[in-house]
Amino acid sequence: MTHEVTTPLMLKQLYLSTIKLYFEETAEQAQKQHWSYQKYLATLCEMELSHRLEQRLARRLKESKLPQGKTLSTFDFKVAKSINSAQIQALSENISWVKKAENLILFGPSGVGKTHIAAAIGHSLIQQDIRVLFVSTMTLVQQLQQAYKDYHLPEALTKLSRFELIILDDIGYVKKDVQETSVLFELIAERYESGSLIITANQPFSEWHQIFPDNMMAVAAIDRLIHHATIITLQEESYRKIEAEKIRSKQF
Ligand code: ADP
Ligand code: MG
Repeated sequence: MTHEVTTPLMLKQLYLSTIKLYFEETAEQAQKQHWSYQKYLATLCEMELSHRLEQRLARRLKESKLPQGKTLSTFDFKVAKSINSAQIQALSENISWVKKAENLILFGPSGVGKTHIAAAIGHSLIQQDIRVLFVSTMTLVQQLQQAYKDYHLPEALTKLSRFELIILDDIGYVKKDVQETSVLFELIAERYESGSLIITANQPFSEWHQIFPDNMMAVAAIDRLIHHATIITLQEESYRKIEAEKIRSKQF
């Protein structure tokens, strides 16, 4: 068999699908522009790697279940005066806090942009190849509770440990129920110094005894969360309310 026939077959066997697709057309370009053999090979390798990265990021984005459109580019920092945009930018651009398994806790009343900021940071980190999961705390607690009932809690927690960052949205919506919130504690304990969490919350820590079955557990959870954490409190008026008022004032 000639190399025209065997080369594509070998590239397929080697899982080099992008090189397989482009090696002939790139060879023509290489000839025309008098590239060295080394440059030809390097160009093909770069194409393969960049296509693989693109595919990986698309996979990461899909598995993250992040809400669409909630990115830094759609967040108006001029409205959110209590937020230090440089700090949010730093958390988005510098992955070292995730590599060190540190946490971020966003406090503030409803509608001020906690979920948006958390999701936006998640989006940026995915672009830097970090595995992220966004989930409502209530949903996750229900899933873990089911796993507990099925005697699969350790396996469920191990599955979650693949994510370098888990965004637990609205922790305060989970209400005291001994079994339910014990699994939330298990998750927090499991991730302590091993994986990052971003938590959004309407209530300050002083009200977290409403989430956990007893005060001891609330204190133990908070202790683990804040040992290595950035805590940000958003204090603006509800963005939802401001937007609704703008629309209303246009109507009348
Ligand atoms: P919270 O989680 O604090 O309740 P959200 O993040 O859900 O608030 O924000 C409510 C809505 O307002 C969302 O649609 C969000 O995208 C939008 N929003 C909030 N703050 C801003 C902002 N500063 N710029 C742009 N959109 C914002
Ligand atoms: Mg929210």
